Amino acid sequence: MSVILDLTRIVQAAAEADSPSEQVAVIVDSIQQYMGLDVCSLYLADERGDMALLASRGLDPVAVGSVRIPAGMGLVGLVAQSRHPINIADAARHPAFYGIRETHEELYSSFFGVPIVRAGVVIGVLVAQSREARVLSAEESAVLVTLGSQLALVVATESIWQEINKSSARSLTGIKGAPGIGIGQVRLCDDVDLYSVNDGECDDIDATLAEWHDLVKSVLADVKKEQAGLGDMLSQDVATVFDAYCLLLSDPSLINGVAQLIQDGHHLPGALKRVIHHHADVFLAMEDPYLRARHEDIRHLGNKLYSAWRGLRNAREEDLPSAQTVLVGAVVSVSDIARVPIELLAGIVCFQGSNLSHTAVLANALGVPAVMGVGEIKGLQNRDALVVDGNSGRVIIRPSASVLTEYEHLLNAERQMKGELRALRDLPAETVDGTIVKLYANSGLLADISPGLQAGAEGLGLYRTEIPFMVSDTFPSEDEQVAVYLQILQAYGAKPVHMRVLDIGGDKPLPYFPIKEDNPALGWRGIRFCLDNSSLFLSQIRAMLRAAEGRDNLRIMLPMVGSTSELTGFHALLNDALQQLLEEGFNVRRPPVGIMVEVPSAISQLASWRDQLDFISIGSNDLSQYLLALDRNNPRVAASYDHVHPAVLHEIARVIKIAGETGLPLSICGEMSSDPIAVMLLLGMGVRTLSMSAAQLPKIKWLLRRIALENATDVVEEALRLNDARQIRKLVADRLYVLGAGEILW
Ligand code: PEP
Ligand code: MG
Repeated sequence: MSVILDLTRIVQAAAEADSPSEQVAVIVDSIQQYMGLDVCSLYLADERGDMALLASRGLDPVAVGSVRIPAGMGLVGLVAQSRHPINIADAARHPAFYGIRETHEELYSSFFGVPIVRAGVVIGVLVAQSREARVLSAEESAVLVTLGSQLALVVATESIWQEINKSSARSLTGIKGAPGIGIGQVRLCDDVDLYSVNDGECDDIDATLAEWHDLVKSVLADVKKEQAGLGDMLSQDVATVFDAYCLLLSDPSLINGVAQLIQDGHHLPGALKRVIHHHADVFLAMEDPYLRARHEDIRHLGNKLYSAWRGLRNAREEDLPSAQTVLVGAVVSVSDIARVPIELLAGIVCFQGSNLSHTAVLANALGVPAVMGVGEIKGLQNRDALVVDGNSGRVIIRPSASVLTEYEHLLNAERQMKGELRALRDLPAETVDGTIVKLYANSGLLADISPGLQAGAEGLGLYRTEIPFMVSDTFPSEDEQVAVYLQILQAYGAKPVHMRVLDIGGDKPLPYFPIKEDNPALGWRGIRFCLDNSSLFLSQIRAMLRAAEGRDNLRIMLPMVGSTSELTGFHALLNDALQQLLEEGFNVRRPPVGIMVEVPSAISQLASWRDQLDFISIGSNDLSQYLLALDRNNPRVAASYDHVHPAVLHEIARVIKIAGETGLPLSICGEMSSDPIAVMLLLGMGVRTLSMSAAQLPKIKWLLRRIALENATDVVEEALRLNDARQIRKLVADRLYVLGAGEILW
């Protein structure tokens, strides 16, 4: 087929497009496919000469329609001003380079721009980019120049600007709740707000008390019905999210609290509001982000009880959606989710909430993309088109045709990848050249157990025992702890469970044991707190040993160890606990003991601690925070925090070397384990055990099965020579694309 014929077809297809926005989408799509380049974009000049990115195949879709390059700026501006094509291999080094965050242009090296000139005026610039650093061949350049001149004749610039000005498309950024792309029609969730209820008096106390108890029973039955419905259709992990609601609905402090207020003369909704308010506030005041997020569950439940009291639930049940649906609301409750058939649930958007909300937990478990905390979206109507981009935490309201087309491409690519991930569940995490990596799950909640096992985790690499302590009103008793630990050890069967002793203080305070300090990150936390509260600590160690009676999958892990005395202090307590329990008739045995390597001072002492340790696990979150002196939860400095910072990588390399020399089994259990760029580096550095949240596990397995150890060792050698985290990220990202694993970064 001749080149001329192909070009004519592209131009003809563009001329025949139904709408101006479709026209530009067709142009960039066909050129990108025809030329086999990574990116093709079309910028059109507005009345001021600024260049608006109106269509792109390859750049981040959210940038389309929102990015404008000021007149004369950047390589695009240079092409427009000079009216000459620019063909360069390494765009970032060009003095005119203008990096735009939204487009992620740093991923592409080469740049080819050709002006589109109509009647002597530059109306736009056609840009082609590729990851590979190369200049386009003379033939490729000629094709693009020809296309540029022909497009000048067909691109309906005026209509495009009219369409853009008319369009009410909006893009909002929130918090990533659950990964994935969803496209569907908006379904607004009822905004029943118990908090807006006024206080009122109770006319008939006995009748209201009976009404309250009936209400709790009927809502509990509803929750169980919804749970059973989802549980049958899906997996146990989803159903367990409802357990929290059932527990709250059986909680005497809730039931008796409302009953007491009714007895004191309050009407039912007023009494309910006060009690829910009180419970929610207790959680809201907690500093731990996970526990703070629990206040939403309590509010959800309050609203659910209130809706049921008002008889709202039944009315909504008849109105089932029939198209792909995105649930949108201030808070989207699990009941709202349960009401949409799962095959029609395209996404969830919450004005409030965080990635730790149960809505997000449930969305993750269901595999439904979710964006949380976008703030109130005004003027949104039922059935409006909406894109949920859970990968970047963005929501696009009423997207233009070209943005929609681009997201449809991403969605299809993602579906293909998901299919591949499912097929991997029972396969080992093995690189193409046969290196096996052990993948463990991180957890802190009973509800997290089955997702880990279902994702194929080979053990629990980090069980954060402080979570059960945080959700309690007082320190849990030894027996209560035994009951929790036993469930975990049993669930994992023969697979190892690394239970970390109480790591409170710092960012994880206990609500009933407030610690006020000027500098909590460097204060009374982790092992320091445990050893100073030795009777509490002893009861936790005893509970772990008792729960492990008759099984050998318990491993005890110590957080924040930085001094020898902390390690010896623990061993002395462990000896005491073992001796006491043996004397009490328990058949307990000494479990393997390890430490988190997260306080930098531990690194140089590791070798001398060898005979007191059976394993180590690098806590890359705290290790990075302490090495970089950066709090990633502090928005002022969070952008500078990066666990692939060269200083962190060099220290990790040092730990790996010491572990190798002393024969200490090593794993990593911080966020690094689920960051594909970091995983590539860790693999190359010699890490063979990674522990991460269950939701991330299949993705990392997919990556490991795509690459060879040799690829990782090559890239790490180069990475360790760089002295900037961004350069390291780019280097590894480029390599992942070359290896055909780049889509993991989307
Ligand atoms: C860490 O610090 O990397 C870690 C895994 O522990 P946490 O995030 O619970 O402090
Ligand atoms: Mg830590």
